[in-house]
Amino acid sequence: MPTYAITGAASGIGAATRTRLLDAGHAVVGVDIHDVDVVADLSTPGGRDDAAKATTELAGGRLDGVICCAGLGPLAGHSGGKLAAVNYFGTVGFVEGIRSALEAAGAASVVVVSSSSTTTQPGLPEELVADCLAGNETDAVTRADELTAIPTYPATKLALARWIRREAIRPEWIERGVRFNAIAPGMIDTPMTGGDDLDPDLAKALDFYPVPLGRRGRPEEIAALAEFLLGPGSTLMCGSVVFADGGTDAQLRQDDWPAPWHPTQDELSRHFPPRK
Ligand code: NAD
Repeated sequence: MPTYAITGAASGIGAATRTRLLDAGHAVVGVDIHDVDVVADLSTPGGRDDAAKATTELAGGRLDGVICCAGLGPLAGHSGGKLAAVNYFGTVGFVEGIRSALEAAGAASVVVVSSSSTTTQPGLPEELVADCLAGNETDAVTRADELTAIPTYPATKLALARWIRREAIRPEWIERGVRFNAIAPGMIDTPMTGGDDLDPDLAKALDFYPVPLGRRGRPEEIAALAEFLLGPGSTLMCGSVVFADGGTDAQLRQDDWPAPWHPTQDELSRHFPPRK
């Protein structure tokens, strides 16, 4: 029986994924700040370490996969720094902390929850993406605090999408059978997009958010995709960012991708070295 870890398992997409995996007969270790197997705060390095140790122990030292759903939305009460700490550094720190358990499975899947805001929210601050990917939490948190939560949110999610594409091809993961992929949900009906503490301006903006399918997504629809990406049906997928957004990205960014590649001579030589 496969064992999966889920961060953010107490609510929304994480809770729906937990239900789906349990119904399918899998073992699940849920991580969150309340109401789950491992209660830990992923916004701090100590909390991430505690969460990773407790999860590894509860899973018996072997995990077939993890889906990282823990995250904070751009709500009025959240500082940008807290978003950066939870959404990006909380995810990366937790995955790195459970590395030995993922490797022990022989074939494991890491799925992180990014967001379609990465490609559809105007004005995304690229410098914050760079701070995150450089692994510089202090700089990222300082910059995010200055930016505030609304622009910080898509930057943390773009950094996650880029992080999985970098990690996915690293020999230390791929040669040990660990695959990385991301889900980029559009607007999903969860406490994050419908709670009482939603910023009134954001609530208005969400009401106008274009969804060609004509409705918000349901957390169960993301859970179905998560189960697929965690399981044996997706073993060729490695470094993919899968959009599940009812058509928003297709509408706003119609011809932007697939983006053709125009490599320099150096890039060509690096990726296709001449045969000896
Ligand atoms: P949610 O608020 O229902 O769930 C988020 C969970 O993360 C909560 O259970 C919360 O307690 C947990 N969490 C927050 N801070 C934490 C911390 N410091 N340590 C541990 N756990 C913490 O929201 P959701 O909509 O289910 O969001 C799940 C993921 O999906 C998030 O990463 C979110 O950014 C992403 N997402 C959501 C939407 C959407 O429209 N709902 C769209 C795109 C991406």
